[in-house]
Amino acid sequence: MQPPKADMGPFEAVNHFFHHAAEITRISDSAIDVLSGTYRELQVQVPVRHDDGRMEVVYGYRVQHNGARGPYKGGIRYHAEADLDEVRALASLMTWKTALVDLPFGGAKGGVQIDPSHMSPAELERLTRRYTGQISSVLGPTRDIPAPDMNTDAQTMSWILDEYGRKYGHTNQIVTGKPIALGGSQGREEATGRGAVVTGDAALRDLGRDVEGATLAIQGFGNVGSWAARLARDRGYRVVAVSDVHGAIHADQGLDIGEVRAHLAETGSVVDCPGSEPISNDELLGLDVDVLMPAALGGVITDENAGDIRADVIVEGANHPVTPLADAELTERGIVVVPDILANAGGVIVSYFEWVQNNQELHWSHDDVVGRLEHKLDQAYRTVRDFQDRHEGINLRQAAFALAVDRVVEAASLRGYL
Ligand code: NAD
Repeated sequence: MQPPKADMGPFEAVNHFFHHAAEITRISDSAIDVLSGTYRELQVQVPVRHDDGRMEVVYGYRVQHNGARGPYKGGIRYHAEADLDEVRALASLMTWKTALVDLPFGGAKGGVQIDPSHMSPAELERLTRRYTGQISSVLGPTRDIPAPDMNTDAQTMSWILDEYGRKYGHTNQIVTGKPIALGGSQGREEATGRGAVVTGDAALRDLGRDVEGATLAIQGFGNVGSWAARLARDRGYRVVAVSDVHGAIHADQGLDIGEVRAHLAETGSVVDCPGSEPISNDELLGLDVDVLMPAALGGVITDENAGDIRADVIVEGANHPVTPLADAELTERGIVVVPDILANAGGVIVSYFEWVQNNQELHWSHDDVVGRLEHKLDQAYRTVRDFQDRHEGINLRQAAFALAVDRVVEAASLRGYL
């Protein structure tokens, strides 16, 4: 395996972790060839009509990485940096994530390369419908099932469901992360944040540390970050810093998360929330806290700032927030990293529960969903820790990837792909 480099692109970085897992599990060269590439990539041109009549042409993608274990599954992201390489990386992470938490899905991801921050709801609806129409031929309730990711939400899923239904007939299993009124699941909205908090708790306890009073800093205050903040506070953490794209805020005695949410709803940002002092996003990453949770973009902890990290545990709410070089340095320094494919798997687990409920026309209670989610994550965390204990010198990420790769290779071999 090649040593990690500083300038790896997102897909190359995820594949670096895959190649290490391939060495641990000793899979065949043909398996490496298949799994280090993607099965299908669709690129579409998406013309968007703005409210002022202007037409903007952007590009959208749907990448299906591997479907050996079941239908492709993965979110859709609207972001200026959502290019083909980023979407490939995110699709491959979904293959490893669904395998690690043992869901009968493969991995996919979608993206539209656009900055949606100044778009009106009507513009977003036109964009979503056009993109859905262009990728609908590769979607399907037993083929490929999208979900929300950065800058997309339950409303986006409603438009996708409706647009897909216009062509193929009403199909509520076509997306997950839907509103409850359209067949969504209890507990889906907070599921990723909940999973990040639950797996972070497990890592802290493994270090012999108490959750009560533990300090937490979170980068990103969207779906994942804001729910993680709320749920962590309820479990006794002191959330001392949070941030968004505009900046970061800090309060040593702990932020009032209810007030931060209200301030965000009123002003569109967490910055200047009463009872907090401003800090930069870089300062947030370097705070001396028990747990640091990146919950925004990928590639934020690199070889350049890994030396500044003072947290004992990093919980990857975001996808691929730590580069391979930084990962090696953090491991060297004894910092525990709960990897993305475990830490943020709560979302796809409850997406699976939503799909199962839709298939059976059933509705589970919130308590039922939370109980099943926590059980599944607890099982996955224990399996990863056991694997790590049995293999000297590997970190949690290497253990998690090895387990996932083994399961995907087994399914692909049984089908006769390898
Ligand atoms: P979101 O759009 O709801 O929120 C993103 C947050 O990050 C916002 O607060 C935004 O202001 C902030 N942000 C953006 N750029 C930033 C920057 N440069 N510095 C600091 N903050 C910045 O997105 P989300 O759904 O919460 O997703 C966040 C991350 O979690 C992504 O990496 C995503 O892939 C991952 N994830 C999300 C889910 C899910 O269910 N939503 C599931 C698994 C993983």
